[in-house]
Parts: sequence; C-alpha cells; structure tokens
Amino acid sequence: MAKLKLYEYPHPILKQKTEKFVAVDDDVRKFLDDMLETMYAEAGVGLAAPQVGVSKRAVVIDIAHEGEEPAPLYMVNPEIIWRSEETEICEEGCLSLPEQRAEVERPASVKIKYLDYNGKSCELLAEGFLAVAVQHELDHLDGILYIDHLSRLKRQMLVKKLSKYQKTRQKEA
Ligand code: ZN
Repeated sequence: MAKLKLYEYPHPILKQKTEKFVAVDDDVRKFLDDMLETMYAEAGVGLAAPQVGVSKRAVVIDIAHEGEEPAPLYMVNPEIIWRSEETEICEEGCLSLPEQRAEVERPASVKIKYLDYNGKSCELLAEGFLAVAVQHELDHLDGILYIDHLSRLKRQMLVKKLSKYQKTRQKEA
C-alpha cells in the first residue's frame, strides 16, 4: 500500500465531475487500499478519489471511533437512489480544506447503490453520521464541496481562513 498525495482547495480537480469505473479489478482494489491508507494516515473518516487526484467514482469511508475495530466501506460507482425528506444539521470538515469546519444541512438518511471491494452490487441505507459521510463523499464525485452548501458569506469567510492557514503552513514548512 502507498500513501497518496492529497489535493486541497482550490485545486481544479476538486471541481470536476468524475467518470465511472468499468469494473472492479485488481488495479481498482489496489487504488482503494491506497485511498484507505491515505485516509487513515490523515485521520479522516472519508476520502473520495478526486481528493487524491483521480477523477473517478470511488470513495472510502470508515466512521468507527478511535479504539474500535476498523470498519472500512469501499464504494465504487456509488449513487444515491433515495433521500429522506427529513434533514439534519451536522458539522463537517474535509481533508481538502484542512483545519476548517462548518455546519451543513442535508437529508437525514439516504439509500445508496454501489459496487463493493469485490465488485458486488450492494445497497445500503445510511443514517446518522454515516449518512452525512456518504453524502459528503459522493458530492466530491460531482465536483461539489461541503462549502458549496453554505451561504456565500459563510463560504467566503471559510475560504479566507483556509488560505490564511495554507500560507502560514507553507512558511513553517
Ligand atoms: Zn471532503
């Protein structure tokens, strides 16, 4: 396994719509392994392919808490097939926008269809924090970031804070 390079806002790959995989083969599985390793190394709960510079439809998610057994979810070509009318507000962060967080309102539960690690077609009803993580990661596949769900003013403030953080980090490096 190898740790992959993370792409951060405002890299244009994060705004692109991604393409489907033809099938889940060994190359795809190796990529999923690398994505998971990268996500764990960065202490993230989810990672989408564009965040590591690949414009394809794949995400990995693991919402297990620290000290719990890892419970990775691999999703290839995922799509949301149902959204609840009920919504929930949850604070979100993103490895592509380091050190920033904001509250986002989304459907409280969603049903998704995807191919798993072995290429098997699966359906999953996601609720609670898993529903948040799934929607956040699937958004990445359509070039949407969580800040795109914020008001213009909130988004501008967050982007300003982010670029300040990125500059300071650069200086310290
Ligand atoms: Zn993200």
